[in-house]
Amino acid sequence: MSDPNTFIDELNQRLDKLRQDGLSRQLRVVESPQGATIQIGQESLLNFSSNDYLGLANEPRLKAAAEMALGEFGAGSGASRLICGSLKVHHQLEEKLAEFKRTEAAIVFSSGYATALGTIAALMGPGDVIVLDKLVHASIVDAAKLSGARIRVFPHNDLNKLESILKWATQQNRGGETSQILVVTESIFSMEGDRGLLLEIVRLKEQYGAWLMVDEAHATGLYGQRRSGLIEALDLGSHVEVQMGTLGKALGAAGGYICGSRTLIDYLVNRARSFVFSTAPVPAATAAAQAAIDIIASSEGATRCAQLWRNARTARGCIGEPSDVPPADESAIIPVHIGDEERAVQLSTHLRRGGIFIPAIRYPTVARGKARLRLTVTAAHTTAHLATLAKVWANAVMSP
Ligand SMILES: *Cc1c(COP(=O)(O)O)cnc(C)c1O
Repeated sequence: MSDPNTFIDELNQRLDKLRQDGLSRQLRVVESPQGATIQIGQESLLNFSSNDYLGLANEPRLKAAAEMALGEFGAGSGASRLICGSLKVHHQLEEKLAEFKRTEAAIVFSSGYATALGTIAALMGPGDVIVLDKLVHASIVDAAKLSGARIRVFPHNDLNKLESILKWATQQNRGGETSQILVVTESIFSMEGDRGLLLEIVRLKEQYGAWLMVDEAHATGLYGQRRSGLIEALDLGSHVEVQMGTLGKALGAAGGYICGSRTLIDYLVNRARSFVFSTAPVPAATAAAQAAIDIIASSEGATRCAQLWRNARTARGCIGEPSDVPPADESAIIPVHIGDEERAVQLSTHLRRGGIFIPAIRYPTVARGKARLRLTVTAAHTTAHLATLAKVWANAVMSP
């Protein structure tokens, strides 16, 4: 029998290595709801790290919708959707999402992560080719691996490389059995805050007969006339086979979704394993997401977005970056590239002493040696919050 201590010893060694590399991470207990300020232990901090871009996570109308659903349907969903957990509230959300995105149908999962995993692994298999932008989210990378398909990666937004991969993949097809090609990218990239070149990618995927999946995790709620995302803003809905997003960021709730054709959704209901073999999302979160869509699609959504973009411009100025971002580049995510892991942690510590919460983002969330502060703004930040950011930031960057 092996020494029971070797298990703990082995894990401790691995943790020590993370500490040595400046990559060890810990949970912080947040004692308040999400908002422009959060309470961590005894400290009240200005929060510039949340994905609650429109300030909806603690919005009374979302909470009221959640409470209603809790009263009507209970705390838990009881089973997977295909057994007896497919509650009316789930169907209502799916109808609302399809209308919001102007697609035939929608399906919701318990998280964005589960959405990517179930969807990509259902659509693609061994022999197929999945083509990924280098910077896509971990959930997409994991899903691609799980599918067993061949994976090809192009440097971020490198259209030439994408085209050469597509050329290669279609030549493979001519040589023998047909395989599918799926390109996956994001509309707004989670760590860079920049845009996938969707128009160009659509042109390429159509030229080469590939399918396209776009993750709108950081765009849903923020772009387009209805604010359903960048696909709407660019009028590409009919060109993107698989539209993905999360309900946990600008929508202030929890869960993930796929919007697309009725056929796609029927297929996923049957084949997406993270849907089939997982308890249905809780009624409260499902109802909160509906309330969020109602707010976002109304004129109030437009007002909140306008405030968000004003705040984003101001915040850029606060940290000494150009604030005259053209509307076509607007994003709530402002990455401040540091590189060295320890320096990024140091800067974050200085900011925290000044009452500003922006954790350092390190490997494995971004590549090694590409540590950064990922500053995010929300519609809930006030002029006073932003003034504090400017002051504390100036001090922190001067500190050794
Ligand atoms: C957050 C995120 C996800 C995962 O969504 P969750 O609902 O948080 O699980 C997927 N893709 C991207 C780009 C994300 O930023």
